[in-house]
Amino acid sequence: MLAARFHAAGRPLSLDDVPVPVPGPDEVRVRVRAAGVCGTELHFVDGLYAPARVPMTLGHEAAGTVDAVGSQVGGWKVGDRAAVYYYLFCGGCRWCLVGRQNLCLAPRGVLAFAADGAFAEHVVVPSRCLVRLPEQLSFEQVAPLCCAGTTAVHALAEADVIPGEVVVVLGAGGVGLAAVQEARRRGAVVVAVSRNPARRAGGAHRRCGGCGRSAGSGRRGVRAVRRSGRGRGPGAGRDHGHA
Ligand SMILES: [Zn+2]
Ligand SMILES: [Zn+2]
Repeated sequence: MLAARFHAAGRPLSLDDVPVPVPGPDEVRVRVRAAGVCGTELHFVDGLYAPARVPMTLGHEAAGTVDAVGSQVGGWKVGDRAAVYYYLFCGGCRWCLVGRQNLCLAPRGVLAFAADGAFAEHVVVPSRCLVRLPEQLSFEQVAPLCCAGTTAVHALAEADVIPGEVVVVLGAGGVGLAAVQEARRRGAVVVAVSRNPARRAGGAHRRCGGCGRSAGSGRRGVRAVRRSGRGRGPGAGRDHGHA
């Protein structure tokens, strides 16, 4: 199969021909239908971060259809639509048992960071890493939720955002736009701040179903926050980079 692999910083990914992975007893193979590009992967290419080994197939925001199931897998069959959780958690350690799989003490890997990821025709993961998809969601809609979306949901849950609170989202990139939507869902008044004029000009509003405001950084941003909060300051601010 073809896989877009990282070999070294400063070089584009190369399209390599690699063996089709075979799922182990508790694993599934997913035919990748959509994969998002995370800012972290761009930082692999520019040399800021590095994966655990090279070459590495990147891609940790993936959705697709189940293509093969291991001998011990129950509940999944070929053709099922699924999103992939990229932490290949063990499911049995004390953190996994309380729902904090991102802190797993014995992960099998993390897609794109320490296990071959989803910029490929197929990816193999433990079946517990799959999330079933409703028919009305497209693979393209779902893939970016697997990292950008979950990061935003987690950040706002940690901030315990409540209705009516003013939330300032610094940076209107992938995570920032997801944070705008999640803050709106929680009933907050949202100000999205971005240095990028194109994103300010309407991206944050249109793509998120109308957030409170979008503003530039510096004084304009501060004024927008004051107006939105009718004098109150923000209850929560989150910096998502990639502005
Ligand atoms: Zn990511
Ligand atoms: Zn675990």
